[in-house]
Amino acid sequence: MKTKHCDWCDHPFETKLSYQIYCSPECRQLATKEKIAQKYLKDKIKKRAGKLRPCKNCGRQMSMYTEETICQSCEINPDEVKGALKEIKDIINGKIKLD
Ligand SMILES: [Zn+2]
Ligand SMILES: [Zn+2]
Repeated sequence: MKTKHCDWCDHPFETKLSYQIYCSPECRQLATKEKIAQKYLKDKIKKRAGKLRPCKNCGRQMSMYTEETICQSCEINPDEVKGALKEIKDIINGKIKLD
């Protein structure tokens, strides 16, 4: 007899079978159910990954996990960013004088 730890509940149990990894049929069942649930979730994410999720503003591919329709860089108002960049250029070119 060998003492092992159940792969599901971690309780020690004795077995002669080298392939037995659960202490009881209940634990085996629960572990199997969890594996099925995990596979289901993985398949769900895979299906979602197959779909394109382009940003509505710039068309850039976004993370498959996001529910947003606009990407992070567009969330910062692009016109505001452009305006700020223009201002910086104008300052550099001396068009705008700083106090
Ligand atoms: Zn167990
Ligand atoms: Zn975008």
